[in-house]
Amino acid sequence: MMARRPLIAGNWKMNGVAASATTLEKIIAGAQALAGVDVMVCPPATLIASFAKIARGTNVAIGGQDCHALAAGAYTGDISAEMLRDAGAQAVIVGHSERRQHHAETDMAVREKALAARRAKLLPIICLGETQTERDAGRARDVVGRQLDGSVPDGAEDFVIAYEPVWAIGSGQTPTPADIAAMHGFIRERLAARFGASAQNVRILYGGSVKPDNARGVLTAENVDGALVGGASLVASEFLAIAGVYC
Ligand code: PEP
Repeated sequence: MMARRPLIAGNWKMNGVAASATTLEKIIAGAQALAGVDVMVCPPATLIASFAKIARGTNVAIGGQDCHALAAGAYTGDISAEMLRDAGAQAVIVGHSERRQHHAETDMAVREKALAARRAKLLPIICLGETQTERDAGRARDVVGRQLDGSVPDGAEDFVIAYEPVWAIGSGQTPTPADIAAMHGFIRERLAARFGASAQNVRILYGGSVKPDNARGVLTAENVDGALVGGASLVASEFLAIAGVYC
């Protein structure tokens, strides 16, 4: 079994302008000391090319936040995985709950996007997670299992899973480390049932209100291979403090 190298990925969402390059530069400078962890920044699409140029040759990778399933065509406003790759991205987030919620993305659509990422040689970061109502109804595993089955394409294990309970995103609330470990263990078992031993190579990130003060508890939980970080990734010192748990 390969050791899973942790990944801390920042999802900037719809935040960032050209001047935000200073934040990226601080992240790059701080990441030089972080040899034991992959660090990635996913800025809005408008910044991918310039950020990729700044990050070239450093140990910070640049990723997109979404892609279209097709390579090109009459889809006004959309961006393909190939375009992200061409701009210098190495990965792309697909199926984030904000895309599922505000753009009605289904598991099938997310799977198509993950396949597009693979086609364009981008690493897909596939997001899953239950709502508060689903958790309260005792349906968290059902929901996450269904999303996992539907959103992850067949074939190689060249993807990352991000378990992001919707109720934890941007809310300041997080599950306990024990709850996170339990869900990640469930995801790992479900992947193993489908992909066999290679499921051990899949990184499963936790996402939802990860901050410097809770990062150690979250990141040291069993089967947690890193984090997808929203708000705290916009502040270089906070993002680096989270990634620094691995050093
Ligand atoms: C996210 O949206 O992927 C996320 C984890 O956000 P936050 O860290 O702000 O909760």
